[in-house]
Amino acid sequence: MIIDLADEAAAPGDQVANVCVVGAGPAGISLALELARARPDWHILLVEAGGPDNASDREKDIYRVTPVGKSYSVLEISRRRKLGGTSAHWGGWSKPLDATDFESNPGWDVPAWPFGPEELAPWVPRALAWTDIEGDFFSVDPLRQRHEEKLLSLGAQSRLGEHLFRFSPPTRFGDRYRDDLAAQENLSCLLHANLYQLSRKGDRITGARVRSLDGASVHITADRFVLALGGMETTRYLLNLRGDEAADGDGIHSPHLGRYFADHYGLRPGVVLAREGLRYHRFGDDSGPVMPVLTFSASDIRQHGHHNCCMMLHARSEDDSLLASYGGSAALGFAGGGDYWHYRVQMIIEPRPNPASTLTLTEERCELGLRRMQLAWQPHPADFDSAYALFSTLGEELGRTGLGRSRLAKPDSAEVRQNVSGACHHLGTTRMAARSEDGVVDPDLKVYGTANLYVASSSVFPRYGYANPTLTIIALAARLARHLAGNGAGAAT
Ligand SMILES: Cc1cc2nc3c(=O)[nH]c(=O)nc-3n(C[C@H](O)[C@H](O)[C@H](O)COP(=O)(O)OP(=O)(O)OC[C@H]3O[C@@H](n4cnc5c(N)ncnc54)[C@H](O)[C@@H]3O)c2cc1C
Repeated sequence: MIIDLADEAAAPGDQVANVCVVGAGPAGISLALELARARPDWHILLVEAGGPDNASDREKDIYRVTPVGKSYSVLEISRRRKLGGTSAHWGGWSKPLDATDFESNPGWDVPAWPFGPEELAPWVPRALAWTDIEGDFFSVDPLRQRHEEKLLSLGAQSRLGEHLFRFSPPTRFGDRYRDDLAAQENLSCLLHANLYQLSRKGDRITGARVRSLDGASVHITADRFVLALGGMETTRYLLNLRGDEAADGDGIHSPHLGRYFADHYGLRPGVVLAREGLRYHRFGDDSGPVMPVLTFSASDIRQHGHHNCCMMLHARSEDDSLLASYGGSAALGFAGGGDYWHYRVQMIIEPRPNPASTLTLTEERCELGLRRMQLAWQPHPADFDSAYALFSTLGEELGRTGLGRSRLAKPDSAEVRQNVSGACHHLGTTRMAARSEDGVVDPDLKVYGTANLYVASSSVFPRYGYANPTLTIIALAARLARHLAGNGAGAAT
């Protein structure tokens, strides 16, 4: 059932639920439907600030955040306030994290994931189904048989690895799952229902209040609450909740809350000269669109403590030809003859969790009465060292195998570092950890210091990799649904 609080005739009255999920983006919708299907004996409540249409300026103003220091140019466009959340904007790039993304980097001051990739693997097929991606494969190997000529043959000695992106159509969760939400008998979805208050007694959240901007207000009682408001807004509610708490020993005390804010960002370090027709960018396969990328090998990441970055190659015309300046492919000793193309290298950098990169509250309040935030985005200076090291490894590998040459076009400089902009992925500010000393939520996504408050969002990622986050967000949401539903219910198949 879907009830719109903006509709005066709706007047749903106060609500009682087993689980209340706040926020109907990819995380909230997949979690609420998974839970409702796993527990037909329960009532699941999904509350969403937006409606089916785009948010008004008044609604958007609730998201307003003040940037401090380095600009975060995607601040305004990186979040949507409507049914389906930011999936109304997303590009559909999808990939699970690599195995090394779960591992702690000995040079970093915080632990990575409290579990390995095997813990999330059973939930990835579920996430693929939610995002309408067919076939559960993320290895380049099966592609090599069909597209040998599009890929480099670097051999077993290579210090480079290859990984694969897949693509959702992209699924717009509001449009795609609206009918499912309406048809699910044990689920109620409230639209234009802005969460503005969580009440706490001891370590329990005892109730929540939501309201439309024009006044209709609903009190919610539930056994458990899940914040699925997106990375920034989830952090904001926890910061506000902490700010409102009485100093009675209970509550959210983690010093990590609001720290380690990260987003992926790109770098174009240079060009490569290599065989024609390479396809380290999006192309069509029988299985749908795919995109192989080049990375460090897993052993290089572990041995040298590299950040996990990836490279795409985009064919381009080049006036200042590398080939001409070397006197042609014969002079370079390239294998195989044929035409050689220039490729621009596009990189996605894995940001290192940086405690100095923060979301904090200001004194100003939005019309819901919640304190606003300021963002001090600070990519870690060491991020770039790994990016340039990866580009240089590519050059060495092309030289070693006789497959091409590389040229650095954008040397590392303060200007390059200052000008990076984000990819709209809000990571790290409610990080997950095995011990409360190291994070904000535990491995079951329950907020430390509370008995019944959970988070479903990329803000729980403790290490970020280079992969876009939504597939992992949904895998975590499906895993959380199983946890909340209890043993046996909704097990991964
Ligand atoms: C331009 C763009 C391109 C992107 N491309 C990709 C991509 O290719 N691949 C990828 O993996 N990711 C991509 N992303 C990121 C992706 O959109 C997010 O990772 C994903 O939407 C996060 O899902 P979520 O459910 O956690 O949060 P959201 O989608 O942000 O949903 C949060 C929901 O909470 C609701 N809400 C907020 N405040 C309240 C409140 N007070 N009360 C009730 N409800 C509230 C919001 O209205 C919203 O519906 C892209 C993002 C953008 C902006």
